[in-house]
Amino acid sequence: MLEPAYQADVVIVGAGVAGLSAAHRLTSAGVRTAVLEAAPCPGGRMSTEKVDGFRLDRIGQLLSTSYPELRLTPGLDALALRTFAPGVLLHSDGRRQRAGAFAKPRSARGALHAVRALASAPRTPRTASVRGMPGPATLPRVRAGAPLGTAVDQARLGAALARLATAPVERLLARPELPAAQALAERGVPTRTIDGFLRPLLAALLCDPELTTSSRCADLALRAFASGRLCVPEGGAEALPELLAQALPPGTVHTGVRVTSIATTSVTTAEHGELRCRAVLLATDARTAAELLPGLRVPDFHPVTVVHHTTDEPPTTGASLLLDADRGGPVAHTAVISQVDPTRAPAGRALVSSTVLGTPSPDIDTAVRMHLSRLYGTSTTRWETLAVHHTPEAVPAMRPPHDLRRPVRLLAGLYVCGDHRDTSTIQGALHSAHRAAAAILTDLGAAGSLNRAEPLKAAA
Ligand SMILES: Cc1cc2nc3c(=O)[nH]c(=O)nc-3n(C[C@H](O)[C@H](O)[C@H](O)COP(=O)(O)OP(=O)(O)OC[C@H]3O[C@@H](n4cnc5c(N)ncnc54)[C@H](O)[C@@H]3O)c2cc1C
Repeated sequence: MLEPAYQADVVIVGAGVAGLSAAHRLTSAGVRTAVLEAAPCPGGRMSTEKVDGFRLDRIGQLLSTSYPELRLTPGLDALALRTFAPGVLLHSDGRRQRAGAFAKPRSARGALHAVRALASAPRTPRTASVRGMPGPATLPRVRAGAPLGTAVDQARLGAALARLATAPVERLLARPELPAAQALAERGVPTRTIDGFLRPLLAALLCDPELTTSSRCADLALRAFASGRLCVPEGGAEALPELLAQALPPGTVHTGVRVTSIATTSVTTAEHGELRCRAVLLATDARTAAELLPGLRVPDFHPVTVVHHTTDEPPTTGASLLLDADRGGPVAHTAVISQVDPTRAPAGRALVSSTVLGTPSPDIDTAVRMHLSRLYGTSTTRWETLAVHHTPEAVPAMRPPHDLRRPVRLLAGLYVCGDHRDTSTIQGALHSAHRAAAAILTDLGAAGSLNRAEPLKAAA
């Protein structure tokens, strides 16, 4: 129980990953910190439901091993990430093709050489062997009508991804900002590469089927894809906030405490009245943040639905992330997630997790099953539905102009963090918390306590 007379240096409102990681940085610097969470347990949107031995994420979680904050955030050293098979599996016209699994050239120049070599090579892509570029395993013989076009198209895409992987973030942020769909069209990318690969991939990464997102955010998402591997936390999304919460001094997090108003030196709670403090960090979702601090902007949101099925006959796609280049149904991406992370299903059962973007139809499960049947090439009539999780305000939209580094210090004593201050991702939430903790420590005169081995970088 939180004592009414409890005082802390800093009160953090909200125990999602942003609030928890900020708490970790502050307590590590010797700052007395209390985290107040309205829900019965910490984690916020990164929650996992346990049903009959299955671990069902509320979120269609796609992390990248290249997210810098997964490395920089103290308390996440023990986080186990389960990676998908390299690249993605694209479904088009009843067939599946792996894409984006390009070997990473040592430099963008190496990739360009590879493209030129392939462009001038005889039309035998399987034998094309260029140092630093994919050999036969990742450059399959290409059929007419395949999602990615010719071998040269694929090599060009590989070169572009390689350039992105090594491009400094600041250079990407200096590019003109347009809606992502418009930027792709204006950059001279072949239509088949856009429709067959970039559009479904970006829709999945940004939770934005229409690609209205800022092209800068889209570039950052592609950069993360190109420089790392898509992955999920072992054991479910909740593993990440659980690790952060466990690493805090006992008694730091108080659940079941709803904050009703805030000021620079106090917060008022529904359950325990007023608590005094030296600074307040607001780490809630964007809508609650604006309710507690009128004047903060409320963004539009992308709704997301995650549907979990189980079967005893897993499809044969292995640990791949499967996208539909044809957009032939409601599913944006799907995976036999128990092949990626076996801890998510009991022995002998497969867990298939599928993500639907936008507002779902009333009979979404039937539509998803029919779509999955085509995507996996197998009957889904005997599959059992475990859960349908719909989150109307899942991800803040990042339409242009999108400020990737919204101020986290509103005034001395009042700070705000969360995915709505950065990019609408786990990386963004953690990075905003990193910035907010640094600002608080500076204002409290405790900046010297911040681990200097963890510089605050402009990171995607
Ligand atoms: C369906 C879905 C799919 C997603 N897919 C991806 C993805 O593929 N990749 C990716 O990187 N990200 C994805 N995200 C986004 C990611 O989950 C979020 O960016 C991240 O979890 C946000 O963390 P946060 O700490 O900023 O906010 P939250 O997790 O929302 O935490 C805010 C906390 O504040 C608490 N709170 C609210 N009001 C009060 C109050 N008055 N008093 C006390 N506590 C309060 C809430 O209960 C909550 O615990 C997805 C999200 C959803 C929902």
